[in-house]
Amino acid sequence: MPGILVILDGLGGRPTDLGGSTCLEAAATPVLDELAARGAVGLMDPVGPGVRPGSDTSHLSIFGYDPFRVYTGRGAFEALGIGLDVRGGDVCFRANFATVEERGGELVVVDRRAGRLPDGKPLEGAIAGIDLHEFGLELLFRVSTEHRGALVLRGAGASPAVTDTDPRKEGKPVERCRPLEPAAGRTADAVNLFTRRAHEVLQDHPFNRERIRRGERPANAVLLRGAAVMPHLRPITVEYGIRGVCVAGGALYKGVAKLAGLTVLDVPGATGDLKTDLRAKADAALAALDRAELVFVHIKGTDNASHDGDAEAKRAFIERIDREFFGTLVARLPLDKVHLCVSGDHTTPPGVKEHTADPVPALFVGPAVRPDRVRAFGERAAGEGGLGRFTGRLVPQLLGYCDLGPKFGS
Ligand code: ZN
Ligand code: ZN
Repeated sequence: MPGILVILDGLGGRPTDLGGSTCLEAAATPVLDELAARGAVGLMDPVGPGVRPGSDTSHLSIFGYDPFRVYTGRGAFEALGIGLDVRGGDVCFRANFATVEERGGELVVVDRRAGRLPDGKPLEGAIAGIDLHEFGLELLFRVSTEHRGALVLRGAGASPAVTDTDPRKEGKPVERCRPLEPAAGRTADAVNLFTRRAHEVLQDHPFNRERIRRGERPANAVLLRGAAVMPHLRPITVEYGIRGVCVAGGALYKGVAKLAGLTVLDVPGATGDLKTDLRAKADAALAALDRAELVFVHIKGTDNASHDGDAEAKRAFIERIDREFFGTLVARLPLDKVHLCVSGDHTTPPGVKEHTADPVPALFVGPAVRPDRVRAFGERAAGEGGLGRFTGRLVPQLLGYCDLGPKFGS
């Protein structure tokens, strides 16, 4: 029997969102309310009571991993989030393009943001093409927004125990990368060679020549900081002996799902923002049911509207999710043969524009779920539900209802 998990990013809210109601409570959600009436609801602390979660740590926890054990720093998950194919053991750095000048044999940082570089995309290929095979390392590089990006070093000897090259201050030289333990010597050497080669390929790059011609500062160096290793996660597909698929637009969620062993589907129109094609996502989830025991669907727009501080947009998007996503899904879902879980990965009140530690409503429905008396899906209603209050682990609970997974003990 398969299970579907739907995460609405940043779903949770506060009574101050819309004059006494949260956006979810104020939204008209007849389909979700009907599911709540048929199933059971409760409140989830994504990582733990009082912990303000990131989307990365919260998804690890939702999938059943202990983020306090496996989370190695934002570098690794940011690299996932911008779409790099990061694997367990890869060493990831946060990177930024900068402007440097050669003074006395040193590269001195003139501008840490390379004259407010609007987009580093034209330089991506030149950096990604730098060869570090003499160190037994493969290099991956990708830009994200403005002057930012991420660098990944892959190879048996790659170590995260190295210092930053970013001096964090203008007027200072690019720092030499130093090993923090003897085994990291080769990685530090590779990083130092990378810094030199990056400067070489950027210095004469046509994009930079054009910038100089226009009187702008060239992006002629890449500064690295925050080395972090991507943890080796034991795939839940192996642990539970199941097949899993992921329907998501955002790169971070696809990345975490991939680490957990799920196959990421390419869904045209799934954009990871407020314009996403919600019917296409529901269709993809339904189609995946005959080839997977776990279907994970992620919808990001709720969090985007929250970070924008736009409570009306969040309410309206929740209504669209109810109509277009859940309307499509439930119309064709055999709820006597499938278990469904709906929740969020954290609370993001539009008035705060950031993630907060408040618990998130969660809903389970399906043949094994004991119905409670709650007939609406919302924060206050969830507080009165039969599932009480619990921490993370939505996937293990969902698979538990589906009678999948190993027994702990004899
Ligand atoms: Zn999130
Ligand atoms: Zn967010």
